Amino acid sequence: EEQLEPDPSKKTLVILGSGWGAVSLLKKLDTENYNVVVISPRNFFLFTPLLPSCTTGLIEHRSIMEPIRNILRHKKATVKYYEAEATKIDYEKRVVYISDDSEIKGDVSHTVVPFDMLVVGVGAENATFGIPGVREHSCFLKEVGDAQKIRKRIMDCVETAVFKDQTDEEVKRLLHMVVVGGGPTGVEFAGELQDFFEDDLRKWIPEIQDNFHVTLVEALPNILPMFSKQLIEYTESSFKEEKITIRTKTMVKNVTDKYIEAQVTKPDGTTELERIPYGLLVWATGNAVRGVVRDLMEQIPAQKDSRRGLAVNEYLVVNGTENIWAVGDCAITNYAPTAQVAGQEGAFLARLFNTMAKTEAIETELKKLSVAQQEAKGDEERNHVFEEIKERQRQLRRTKQIGPFQYSHQGSLAYIGKERAVADISWLSGNIASGGTMTYLFWRSAYLSMCFSARNRVLVATDWIKAKIFGRDVSRE
Ligand code: FAD
Ligand code: NAD
Repeated sequence: EEQLEPDPSKKTLVILGSGWGAVSLLKKLDTENYNVVVISPRNFFLFTPLLPSCTTGLIEHRSIMEPIRNILRHKKATVKYYEAEATKIDYEKRVVYISDDSEIKGDVSHTVVPFDMLVVGVGAENATFGIPGVREHSCFLKEVGDAQKIRKRIMDCVETAVFKDQTDEEVKRLLHMVVVGGGPTGVEFAGELQDFFEDDLRKWIPEIQDNFHVTLVEALPNILPMFSKQLIEYTESSFKEEKITIRTKTMVKNVTDKYIEAQVTKPDGTTELERIPYGLLVWATGNAVRGVVRDLMEQIPAQKDSRRGLAVNEYLVVNGTENIWAVGDCAITNYAPTAQVAGQEGAFLARLFNTMAKTEAIETELKKLSVAQQEAKGDEERNHVFEEIKERQRQLRRTKQIGPFQYSHQGSLAYIGKERAVADISWLSGNIASGGTMTYLFWRSAYLSMCFSARNRVLVATDWIKAKIFGRDVSRE
């Protein structure tokens, strides 16, 4: 039977976010043990690894979204969901302030949610390093809306470039697609974009053939710093073949509506400021801390030295608190901010919370049993209760055995265009580093199997087949 009102005998567990961390926690959490409340402005889970493919229409964005309501309705006990943004967490008062930022608002659009336990899984925002013009002129690549915006702009640039009487210089600018940030996001996007050009655009609009050009700009001496040297070289040579230009040691300092200004370090060590005109600019320089997280950090003295996010202990408890946990990109651990890490952290917390609830139940029972032991009449009854107590104590030891969080790295995988992928995979204690078409097939099947639901898998596979047969859809809505 569904229970709709919160149970006063249970603790309230509030979960912020509906991304990798929060959803993997929800998947494994036994929701009967707590009054669970989920708060996120985004009412769906997003399978981010395939987001770069949405920018060209290879995959339709809805194929990689899963409604949070569909996830929650399969849980044993009712979970409350509020489509809202957490604007402030008050650590002392144990409340979260939430705000409905969607278009339709009721009489109440701001309110407070009290918690006994809180999990912060709000992810990160896009880093801009305060570089002027970035927010105004570039596209990010983090959410569905970002991918849609890029998809529209690619076609807008192309159609504007072939506009009647456009000058040569302007055509070149409009067809120059600049990606800033040589991490996996920038690399995967550059690869997808070049594929779009090779597979479809150049056939549909032959006039743009000589001028369409993708450039990847990276401040460091090489791209993909988290991959092995061999795979970096493989990616670089593959990009060369694909005719994607990589500009390393090129640090963007300023962005205007038509060009970026970058500091270029030359082989002799001297630097030069260069203007690079662009039609489309995609900004993928990694993560920054969200305001709501920074505000929480400021309330907790133990967090004063952390910069990049919430410092947590080995059980993912936010340092300086005892009832707040953090998962994913907003938490600082020894691991990279990836979906793989966030997913494992969420699953770990589910196990931890399930165990905590079991432990508490056993402890309550032990208390009852010790009273029963004192009140027992006769040896036989006393012995019986004593045996029960021993059994419960054994159970307690067993359940309490949950160790600290340990990340198990399944490997890094990235698509690099032209039906090639790179993979650093640690299997059977040896490291397999590979690149190429087989890796690409592996990449496809791995990502397909990682999709949230069977529904998502069918949709993604269908999108791939559709694009293969009919090409990508270039209409701009
Ligand atoms: P997210 O998944 O970002 O989720 C954060 C959630 O919090 C969202 O639901 C958001 O709406 C919500 N939220 C935001 N603000 C608030 C607020 N104030 N209150 C309440 N809720 C809030 N990692 C890999 O391991 N492999 C990959 O192949 C890979 N590919 C990627 C491709 C792209 C294009 C991008 C951008 C990232 C990729 N990543 C990949 C990284 C991975 O997506 C992140 O590490 C992961 O999403 C982090 O999970 P999270 O739960 O911390 O945050
Ligand atoms: P990132 O932090 O990995 O890379 C950002 C890059 O931008 C860095 O190499 C940095 O040197 C560069 N940069 C910063 N400022 C610059 C400037 N002003 N000018 C030029 N270059 C500049 O960011 P990301 O690629 O968005 O990835 C974020 C996280 O998500 C990472 O942990 C990554 O592993 C993960 N991710 C993984 C995959 C995958 O596994 N396939 C895909 C996407 C993202």
